Amino acid sequence: MPFLLAARGFRIPVETAGSSQTGNRVQPVGVSSAPWPGLRGPAITVKNGVVVLTDPKPRKRVLLADFIRSDENHALDLPQDDRLKTISASLETALKEGSIPPVRLACEKFLNSAADFYKVERTPIRVLAARPVRSREGGWGYELFGDYHPDTELIRVWMRTAVRKQVTTYGTFFSTLCHEFCHHLDYKLFGYRDTWHTRGFYERAALLYHHARGTPPKRLFWVQIPGGRWRIDWQRTTRGR
Ligand SMILES: [Zn+2]
Repeated sequence: MPFLLAARGFRIPVETAGSSQTGNRVQPVGVSSAPWPGLRGPAITVKNGVVVLTDPKPRKRVLLADFIRSDENHALDLPQDDRLKTISASLETALKEGSIPPVRLACEKFLNSAADFYKVERTPIRVLAARPVRSREGGWGYELFGDYHPDTELIRVWMRTAVRKQVTTYGTFFSTLCHEFCHHLDYKLFGYRDTWHTRGFYERAALLYHHARGTPPKRLFWVQIPGGRWRIDWQRTTRGR
């Protein structure tokens, strides 16, 4: 599933949703249904404060059952030890240094460790440099942050911004990695026939992210929008009530 940022056209509010450690923490966020060659699902941004949006319900009944299971599943087992935190810390250091091979190695360690914990197949990983930008009608542009391909199980993540070629913040990068890995878990751990951005999906991805970063998980508050989809209510999520 693609993990995208609207390069322009969105107002990016100041950090509110993350912990108080940094001024600009990033949260996984959804945007709109962007047609993306070969990939389904909506465009997803990872900028805080922009809307996290769930996918529309599938029409097929057999898929709908899995969609509902995914939506209602807000739980994810997490290691009782620090194995993922340790690797996350080394990934953060590698990312700051800015060269691909150590980042790729740390991503691989993280994904292997997580896959072994969940007793699922390990996923191949590719770390790429500057994010591709695809333009859409009306002058909208999207940056690709990462994706997961269900057939090859390949996770790809990009470590530099499209235009200025700056290294992505760790929050953005790592939440993308967790997000893509959760797509893998949808198939391999939960046995869903497809993987969707449901409320449960975002909650599970957030649990993994916060666990591995050692940051406190936040309760996510949702607002239903027309069409039966949901977006995160960032104000309430930030307030925690
Ligand atoms: Zn996704």
